[in-house]
Parts: sequence; C-alpha cells; structure tokens
Amino acid sequence: MSTAAAYALSTSDGSFEKVTIQRRDLGPHDVLIDIKFAGICHSDIHTARDEWGRTRYPCVPGHEIAGVVAAVGSAVTRHRVGDRVGVGCMVDSCGVCAPCLADEEQYCAAGATMTYNTAVDPAVQPGGHTLGGYSTQIVVTENFVVAIPEGIGLDVAAPLLCAGVTVYSPLRHWGAGPGKKVAIIGMGGLGHVGVKLAAAMGAEVTVLSHSLSKQDDGKLFGASGYYATSDKQTFRELRGRFDLILNTVSADLPVDDYVRLLNLDGTLVILGLPENPVSVKPFNLAGYRRSLAGSMIGGIAQTQEMLNFCAEHGIGAEIELIAADEIDGAYDRVVASDVRYRFVIDVSTM
Ligand code: NAP
Ligand code: ZN
Repeated sequence: MSTAAAYALSTSDGSFEKVTIQRRDLGPHDVLIDIKFAGICHSDIHTARDEWGRTRYPCVPGHEIAGVVAAVGSAVTRHRVGDRVGVGCMVDSCGVCAPCLADEEQYCAAGATMTYNTAVDPAVQPGGHTLGGYSTQIVVTENFVVAIPEGIGLDVAAPLLCAGVTVYSPLRHWGAGPGKKVAIIGMGGLGHVGVKLAAAMGAEVTVLSHSLSKQDDGKLFGASGYYATSDKQTFRELRGRFDLILNTVSADLPVDDYVRLLNLDGTLVILGLPENPVSVKPFNLAGYRRSLAGSMIGGIAQTQEMLNFCAEHGIGAEIELIAADEIDGAYDRVVASDVRYRFVIDVSTM
C-alpha cells in the first residue's frame, strides 16, 4: 500500500482537513496516477454535505481528475508511465451485464463502483469505501482511465471528466446538430460546457439562466439566444421552441414551465440532481408528444470520444484555479452560483 495526501470531510457540516489516506498496491491491471488537477462538481457538494443521504465519512470527493501516469501494473497495455490521463465518476463496473457490454458502464446492472463514496471490499480499498480525486494520487484499473489528448491543458480538461461527458452524452443521444434547437437551463459547470459542445456540434443554442448577468459569456461560448428565467415573458416568448432542453440546475425548478418550451416530439433531459421530486402535468407531455427524460454521466468509451471532440474543437472548461485549503470557500461560492465556471484544485498545493 502507498500513502497519499488528501482533503477530507469527517462530518456533513464540517470543514475540509488535510489527511493521509492509503491507496492499494498496484494489481496487474492497475494504473497509479499522480493527480495534477481536480475539478469541484456540484455533486461533490451534494455528497460531502450529505444532501443525498448516503454519504460515507471520511469523505474525499473528486471525480474530475486529470494527472500523469506514475506507474503501471504488469499487465497494463492501455497506458504508459508519463501519459496524460483522466478519471471521471467511475473506477470500475461488473463488465459483463448488458449495459457494460454496450459501453454504458454508468448503468451497470450491478452498480458501477463510483470514484468516491462506494462501499468496496477493504482488501481492495483500505477503509472500505472509495476515496476520490481531492488527493495527490489514485490507483484505478486501466479500463477506467482515459487519455487526455495533447492540446487540452490538464487544468481545463479536468472538469470535462464529469461535467463534459454529462452534457456530451445526452447531446449525442438526442441528436444535437445542425437544424436542432437546443436550450441549456443553468450556465454553471455543466451548463457552460453544454453550450460550447452543442454549438460545436452545429446546433442552435439558447441559454436559460436565472439572470442576464452571464449573457456576454454565453454568447462567447456559442449561444445565439440568452434569456432570464426570472422574467415571465421568457416563458411566453419561447413556448414550443426547442427540440432538446438540458436541465443542469442543481436546485428545484418548476419543470412543467420548461416542458412547455418543447416543440413537437421534443425532450427535456434532467441532469441536475436536487433531492426533491419533479412534477409535470400529463397534458403538457401528451399534448405535444413531448418526453421527460434523465441521463447519468457517460460511458468510458464516450468519455474518450468527448475528450477527442474537445481537442478537435479547442474546447476546455472555463476555470478558476484554487489551492487545496480554499475548498470550503469554493463550495459556498458554487452554491451561491458565484462561479465562472468551474473551480479546479491545483493539487500541487497539497
Ligand atoms: P453548478 O456549477 O452549481 O451549476 C448549476 C447552475 O444552476 C448554476 O450555475 C445556476 O445557473 C443554476 N442554479 C443554481 N441554483 C439555482 C436556483 N436556485 N434556481 C435556478 N437556477 C439555479 O453545478 P454543476 O456542477 O453544473 O451541477 C449541476 C447539477 O447537476 C447538480 O445537481 C449536480 O449534482 C448534477 N450533476 C448530475 C450529473 C448526472 O450525471 N446527471 C453529473 C454531474 C452533475 P444560472 O446562474 O445560469 O441560472
Ligand atoms: Zn460531477
């Protein structure tokens, strides 16, 4: 076993503290990664603060990991020492169920092993649950490590490992491209990458944000329309407009108001994961053959495809780099929607 420095919470209302954690010895298919940057996803905050009610402590969040391979197990073929690599939300899955065989490991029938907060055999993970990327090193089986192409900085690549693939996957699944009108609700970490990706795919992109304060940025990222949802006129003007709407908001929203913005056969995809149920009037779905759907991150092959797409189109996340001892303040700013557009921890400060 090796040790690594990490930032952990020991209770839901505590502050992050520097700790020493154990990483497992390298198995034949394992890769040891020196983590350089770790993004702060809103899911880290939901988990760390136990908003989903199943957090295991000590909690080391972090599933937007970019780093460099430090060592490989004897049977590793996909990665070499010195490679620039990333790890997202998952570190393993059963590999034999139908979703895994279809490269959709995030829907693994046995439940994928998430990068943090999944209970696992203490022989595999000291302490008994996975510990994430707010850490100097991690050991991951090679099939769950992706290559970060040259041309994307590791710092701006890190958020793509979760935020990027979470928006890329539904954009591809529901056919975003030329001739499609796509709206993105919420321009935070997920939302701003969603605008860039949908625009690069050739769709007409509109942002629905709670104010117009980020409008200039939205246009720079590729949106042709930008509306404030605090203005009731927005909902009258855009009624029936969109083929696809991605909801990236981390808080409860009146989803029904947004369903009415869908065109015939349009789909509203829920990505944001506040804990409360959503409510939709059946007439608003049936009347225009609309769909309400959800989507969870993306598979490993699609994560690689997304990174290659980003390299080809010069896309990275917009980030604010912070030191490891600034995580608590960054969390408060994310919750207050005061982030442009992703906090990324500079792991060298650990
Ligand atoms: P984020 O950076 O905090 O962005 C969320 C955005 O939602 C904010 O920037 C803000 O955009 C809007 N918003 C926040 N509070 C609001 C409120 N009270 N009313 C209206 N709008 C509000 O969060 P994120 O990291 O992008 O994550 C967003 C959500 O997606 C979280 O719930 C996270 O857990 C979830 N998530 C899901 C998946 C998945 O696989 N499905 C993956 C990753 C994350 P504006 O200022 O533009 O309005
Ligand atoms: Zn995430």
